[in-house]
This record gives sequence, C-alpha cells and structure tokens, in this order.
Amino acid sequence: MPELPEVETVRRGLAPVMEGQVMARVEVNRPDLRWPFPERMAERLTGQRVLQLRRRSKYLLADLESGETLLVHLGMSGRMTVSGDPLGRFVHDHPAAQKHDHVVFHMENGARITFNDPRRFGAMDLMETATADQHKLLSVLGPEPLGNEFDEAYLIAAFRGKNTPVKSALLDQGIVAGLGNIYVCEALFRCGISPLRKAGQISAARVASLVPAIRDVLERAILAGGSSLKDFRQADGELGYFQHSFDVYGREGEPCHTPGCDQVINRKVQSGRSTFYCPSCQR
Ligand SMILES: [Zn+2]
Repeated sequence: MPELPEVETVRRGLAPVMEGQVMARVEVNRPDLRWPFPERMAERLTGQRVLQLRRRSKYLLADLESGETLLVHLGMSGRMTVSGDPLGRFVHDHPAAQKHDHVVFHMENGARITFNDPRRFGAMDLMETATADQHKLLSVLGPEPLGNEFDEAYLIAAFRGKNTPVKSALLDQGIVAGLGNIYVCEALFRCGISPLRKAGQISAARVASLVPAIRDVLERAILAGGSSLKDFRQADGELGYFQHSFDVYGREGEPCHTPGCDQVINRKVQSGRSTFYCPSCQR
C-alpha cells in the first residue's frame, strides 16, 4: 500500500504536467472504485484548469478553476502513470489501454494521466475547495507529520493518558495523519522505543524524540523517490520502483543494525499488522 512518501512522490511526478494545465477530456470507465464516483464527474472535470496539486495525508487534492477540488486516493493498488508528456520527462508514447484503467485524464498539453487500480480500493471525489477540510475523509485527520502543527508539545499532549500501544497511537490518523506501518516501525527503532509500550507511559523526552525521527524517516523516503512496494509504480511511468533499505521493516530474523547489538529483528502481529523491532534496542 502506498504510504505518505510514495503519495508525495506521485504528487511531485504529476505536478509538472497538471498544475496550470487544462483537462481537455476525462474518461471515466466505470461507475465506482471503492465508492461511486461523484455525479457527472467527467463533465465537472472537463475543461477545468488545475490550479494546484496538493497532498493531505495520503490524499492527492487537485484544486480546479471551477472552485471544486478533485480528491484522489490510491488505495491499496492504485497507480498513476503519465505518458506523452510535452516536457519530455516521462514516457513519450501513450501505451495501449490496459485492463483496470478506470479514469484517464487527457491534458490539453498532450500529457495523459491514467489511474489504474486492479483491486479498486482507491477513491475519487469532488468537493468545494473552500470547505475541503470538512470533507468526511479529511475532517478526521490530525496534523501532517511534516507540518508545523506536529511538534514535540503536541505529541506529548496527544499521548497523555493513552492506554494503547505506541505503535497503534502513531497509526491513529486522528493523532498524526498519513503515517503507516513501515515508517512507524522505523521511527520507533530510531528512538529505541518498544512498539508494545503504552503511549501514555513513555517519558516526555522519549515521546519528543519521535517527532524528529518521524520527520527524518519520511523525508529520507521522499528524497529517495518513495520506497519499494508491491503493485506500485512511480509517477514517471516506469515499471520499476525504488528499492529502499529499512532498519527493521521486513527484516525479521536479520541482524540488528545497531553497532554492538547481537540481536535479530523480531516480528510480532499487532492489531492484525506486522510490527518489526529489536527486542534489545527497543525498550
Ligand atoms: Zn538491536
């Protein structure tokens, strides 16, 4: 599943061909993804100029000249590919239509952006830009982990009295938006905090240390162009994806990276998802 850095990578890949450009024609090839598409979606998008392509958590938000915003969620297996880009940064030839190409944006500048999603857990919606924050998917979100609102004092306050494991607290989208399994495991390892420890029982200094650790693991992954994930293609249309190296994620049974530590990385299932950690370094 694409996590925040992958979605940010898609946004950065799409922005040069979408921002300031007009959607000349939009093909909508089925009535729904995870939910039905908004009414008259193709009509509401056709002829619209994209003023800005933003990201909130794992949602892409395209603000349109009409005063509406198009929300795109990649879900589990959704991907965006770009072809025919006039800037010459992407694959030039438009590929033949594929099965699962559910929505195709034909830009006036000659670029074609295809949303393909075999499992259809993705979503699209249209809302008024002015009240976008109140959309049901966005209003429940806590601060962005890379934004100014997410700081040490905020996280200490958010964890106070919390009886849930710190891993679950960090995955709670109402506490911090867009964090997923991979980067939570990595940040907890950086801080030497056991994922099993209750959020409310961790000292303020250790909770505070999570803020720069979270920012750093996300920023590194964004810089690297998104990490390696099944079913995911980078927005530049390449089939391959970036192979990212992790300290704990996906490394069960392999030696801990901490110098002098002779433990191997353990895996434990928490709330139905795999947690990777070093039982010696993380307390
Ligand atoms: Zn270790």
